[in-house]
Formats: sequence, structure tokens, C-alpha cells
Amino acid sequence: MKLLEDRILRDGVVLGDDVLKVDNFLNHQIDPVLMQELGNEFARYFAGKNITKVLTVETSGIVPAVFTGLALGVPVVFARKQKSLTMKDNLYSATVYSFTKDVTNEITISKQYLGKDDKVLIIDDFLANGQATNGLMEICKQAGAEIAGVGIVIEKSFQKGRKILEEQGMDVYSLARIQAFSEGTVQFVQE
Ligand code: 5GP
Repeated sequence: MKLLEDRILRDGVVLGDDVLKVDNFLNHQIDPVLMQELGNEFARYFAGKNITKVLTVETSGIVPAVFTGLALGVPVVFARKQKSLTMKDNLYSATVYSFTKDVTNEITISKQYLGKDDKVLIIDDFLANGQATNGLMEICKQAGAEIAGVGIVIEKSFQKGRKILEEQGMDVYSLARIQAFSEGTVQFVQE
């Protein structure tokens, strides 16, 4: 998506070999106009798949997921990384290793908000090694929910996430696909 690629080139900051910082429009300050465009694009791509729910994980997946849910006209559920005091029982849970924070979280979703009649679109801000998405897929499995596809804002195609998800038969749609970071600049996959 050209709009997103241009924004990454303008405001993204490459950290080390494999991390992109996009605090200017996605991970800290949020550009709602851009986020709405992203949500509309996910909705356009996954239209006709009879999606009943958008699923993501807190925190940074929530904004693109909400705009996608708005465009599709369906609710959005986010997995929590810390168990809430008001949410103790009846949970689906999965373990997720965080690539950027180097910690392992148990992510949870209340059984009240996901079930076997749901057809789910998973949305996340980044795809690196596929851990977060795999955790959400595991939760869908526990719920007996069907997965319609995975929508990613920024995919780092040089990491193994896409391969892992495709091997499981997932339709992965990424709005920006990064081929490499070369001397601090971003190179996109040529499609
Ligand atoms: P994965 O679970 O695919 O290994 O990593 C994806 C998760 O890690 C995303 O939810 C995102 O929060 C975080 N992440 C991975 N790579 C990056 C990155 O380069 N930049 C930022 N800002 N977050 C990342």
C-alpha cells in the first residue's frame, strides 16, 4: 500500500538489524486518518469472507483492528497480556514470546467473546516471527472458531512469520512488506 510505504519511508526509524520504530503514526502517536485507510483496505481485501469478529492482541494491534472492525461492521476483541482482576475464569489462553521485548506473555481472551460460530480475521501491527499471530490462532482453535485470514500492517519478510503462517494454510495480507533494512534505510518487497 503506497500510502503506508511512503509514511514508513518518511517517519520510520530503523533500529539495529531488524526492528522498525514507527512511533510517529502507529505505536505511540497515532495518525487516525492513515489508520482508517488501513482498516478500509483490510476490509476491502477480506470482504465476502463472512467475518464475524476481528481479533488482535493489546496494545498496538488495537487501533488498526478497530478501524477494520468499523469498516466490516463487526466487533473487535483484543487478547490481554495481563490477566485482569475481573477476568479470572472462563478464559482461552496461549503463550506468546515477544520479539521486541524479549519476554513471554500469557495472552487471554474471555470465552464470552469468542465461540465456534465465529469467523475471525486476525489483525496485528507487525509480523516478525509469527509468535503473536500463532498465539491468537491457538486461541481460535480452543474456541472452535474458524480463521478467515490474517491482516498485518507491516511485515518484515526477512523473518520467518509469513512462512510459518502460510504453512498452516493462512491467507496473510500485509499492507507493507519489508525485504531488508540496508544501512538504516527500508527496502520493500517488489510485487
Ligand atoms: P512476532 O510475534 O510476529 O514475532 O512479532 C510481532 C509482534 O512483535 C508485534 O505484535 C509487534 O508488537 C512486535 N514487533 C515485532 N517486530 C517489530 C518491529 O520491528 N517494530 C515494532 N514496533 N514492533 C515489532
